[in-house]
Amino acid sequence: MAEFVGFTTTIPVEIIFAGGYVPVDLNNVFITDSDPMRFIDIAEKDGFPRNMCNWIKGIYGVVKERKIQTVIAVMVGDCSNTHALSEILTHKGVKVIPFAYPFDRDRESLNREIEKLMRIFRVDHEKLTKVQKEITTVRKILNRIDRLTYKEGVVSGYENHLWLVRASDMMGDYENYGKMARSFIQKIKNSKKREGIRLAYIGVPPIIPDFYDFIEEKGGFVVFNEIQRQFSLPFFGGNIVDRYIKYTYPYGIFARIEDIKREIRKRNVRAIIHYVQAFCFRIMEDIILRDSFNLPILTIEGELPKPLDTRMKLRIEAFLEMLRSND
Ligand code: SF4
Repeated sequence: MAEFVGFTTTIPVEIIFAGGYVPVDLNNVFITDSDPMRFIDIAEKDGFPRNMCNWIKGIYGVVKERKIQTVIAVMVGDCSNTHALSEILTHKGVKVIPFAYPFDRDRESLNREIEKLMRIFRVDHEKLTKVQKEITTVRKILNRIDRLTYKEGVVSGYENHLWLVRASDMMGDYENYGKMARSFIQKIKNSKKREGIRLAYIGVPPIIPDFYDFIEEKGGFVVFNEIQRQFSLPFFGGNIVDRYIKYTYPYGIFARIEDIKREIRKRNVRAIIHYVQAFCFRIMEDIILRDSFNLPILTIEGELPKPLDTRMKLRIEAFLEMLRSND
């Protein structure tokens, strides 16, 4: 049986597949579980503090429960907590492979990091090119799902989120993921067009399970999932370095803003929901984001993988009501 390789955020997954391993985005395992609180409990029992980001605790709990032996930890370009998490995992006997997206988006540095992963997983350029080509076919199907959301209105904001966010590991089998995506398109392509206030969701994916359902129930329609779309790498030309250099998420807020501006224009977005995670350093980026767009912005902070509380619901409802009254 192929060995699992866990990772803490999106990495050039083509290399893992080309090496014959099964990639596992630890975030996805955590959040798609029917009882994600279990993973947080595992971490807290091992001494993780209550007042820290629950995504980190979830990742730790998944590695421990699933007995994952190898983890690629993204040390630059994702999360400041990954350093300490990596040290704890190493201390517990997990093999940790550091990976760094260069903060200055330097092509040569990224190339070195990619070559390093290729050496570790014994992948040559020929094998990588073949897998890349096959994965690109799947990425194009995911891109079609995205277009079916904002152009045709037949895919919900939640379905869009789910298909794009899972692109980071393609559920461990890209061929099957491609088949699943094709059959999803067949099923929904003649559905009734959705209406609603066109919204952009920006920020890390939500830890809250009913986030999209509630927004859509109250008349919103999320037509743009910023970071989830980035996780799907919707860049189709060039080689692996070209694609991962276009990927905005690891290269700071300014790279993200350009992408968000372009997409909100293209998708005719009326307002923005900025999701932030409690105890995450990215909360501070809200200051810059609020100054960067001429659209109403609602910032929602989530903490636990539990349904929206009354206060959050009231804020979302009031925001949508304000947008409706401005029509
Ligand atoms: S939400 Fe923020 S603190 Fe939590 S894992 Fe992601 S980047 Fe790190």
